[in-house]
Amino acid sequence: MGRAMHARNPRTGERDYAFQAADQAEVAAACAALRVAQPAWAERTVEARFEVLERFAEAMDRHQDALAQAVSADTGRWLMALSEVRSVRPALARWRRYAPAVLAEDRAQSQAIPSIHYAQQLVPYPVVGVISPWNFPLLLSLIDALPALVAGCSVAIKPSEVTPRFAEPLARAIAEVPELAEVLTLLPGDGQTGAALIEHVDLVCFTGSVATGRKVGEACARAFIPAFLELGGKDPALVLASADPRRAAETVLRASVLATGQACQSLERVYVHESLFEPFVGHLVEQARQVPLSYPDIHRGIVGPLIFERQAEIIAAQLEDALARGATVHCGGEIERHGGGLWVRPTVLTGVTHEMRIMTEETFGPIMPVMAVASEQEAIRLANDSVYGLSAAVFAGTVEEGERVGRQLEAGGVSINDGSLTAQVFEAEKHSFRLSGLGGSRMGPAGLARFFRKKALFMQTGEPLPIGAFAEEQAAG
Ligand code: NAD
Repeated sequence: MGRAMHARNPRTGERDYAFQAADQAEVAAACAALRVAQPAWAERTVEARFEVLERFAEAMDRHQDALAQAVSADTGRWLMALSEVRSVRPALARWRRYAPAVLAEDRAQSQAIPSIHYAQQLVPYPVVGVISPWNFPLLLSLIDALPALVAGCSVAIKPSEVTPRFAEPLARAIAEVPELAEVLTLLPGDGQTGAALIEHVDLVCFTGSVATGRKVGEACARAFIPAFLELGGKDPALVLASADPRRAAETVLRASVLATGQACQSLERVYVHESLFEPFVGHLVEQARQVPLSYPDIHRGIVGPLIFERQAEIIAAQLEDALARGATVHCGGEIERHGGGLWVRPTVLTGVTHEMRIMTEETFGPIMPVMAVASEQEAIRLANDSVYGLSAAVFAGTVEEGERVGRQLEAGGVSINDGSLTAQVFEAEKHSFRLSGLGGSRMGPAGLARFFRKKALFMQTGEPLPIGAFAEEQAAG
């Protein structure tokens, strides 16, 4: 029997949801069942698997209200909760577009030895473990589960213990598609459940913090299985001398403040050419002050509550450190309590340096520290002065100039004259640099290809070489 756990509602502060964490034995039994069911799933045609997944999308439509209510109760926001639930159909359409090319098994004749022909077989990993974080609980659980299922793997999802409510309605939707229920399981729980899962799967997709990502990577190395790690970031925005300061400020604000900054691709530090510093900061502060909290009505406003209590402590500590070292707050800057929830208004800081934690550590809040730079080179150097390398943004007079600078940034996704485009476009392949992740691209066709091992079948159509062909005497001839 699993341990009893509780989840907190970020709007009320109440621990109003109880659930059971799956224990070692439950994880082992669930993964064993997935392992038994997987070969039949892989033997279906990919079209047949898509047909099952389309029925799953229909089942999710039937449970849309309960799913959105559950995600909303855990995240304190409505529109994004709804879009998480609605993310399945566009994702399936994308994987359907990629599937023919990715799943095509090549056959060819060897150029080196023409009598040998070979076939490339794609063998899906039997059981994939997905371990997801709290910031987009449903979306980041299905983002890897769907392509794994398309590939013919079975999947166990371990949602974050901070935002577990969607698991119940999602399990009901899965149960309505019996073929899927055999190969897709949810295992609620915390880090202990996640650690247990790693021992019973063949590949892990992990989204979360660097600290946990390291532990997961180490555990996967011990288990000798691949780990795809999607971790944190400290995304920079570079505003070049040729940029329009008002437009750049508007977009930096959006890309920093959306989801209350609780997105891996949120912009978290800004480098502005000194010639634009004053107008840029002026526009940013003016616009930031106008962004309303989504309080008290969840259906109004923009900035939702902080989802995870402990994140409020991290944000407060980083702000305190910055202020103690001489930074100036122009707006926001406080953790506010409303209705039992914890809130932060869009916050603009200047007088910041890389000696401050707010410029080097992930904040995960709507905080925009802005630094003036004397040149493009200085902006590039400071942007690259980070342990992270998730994504970045460049604002320039032309996209060509922005691209030239973007090519010099050490990050996996760079938005030019916009911000956080990795959250809007999932077609381009990208790798995380440095501590922001490890493993292949989750996006684009590679996001499907990573669930297969490639096997080669060599066919000798002529005469195999005799052992004498390898005799030392052959060297003379
Ligand atoms: P976290 O690392 O605290 O937890 C992530 C998951 O790991 C949870 O399900 C947790 O229960 C589980 N876990 C904890 N210990 C474990 C262990 N020892 N073994 C296995 N599983 C374990 O992350 P979080 O706080 O939930 O999420 C926020 C972080 O996620 C931020 O750093 C953010 O940048 C990152 N993130 C990255 C991306 C991306 O695509 N790169 C996307 C979203 C979020």
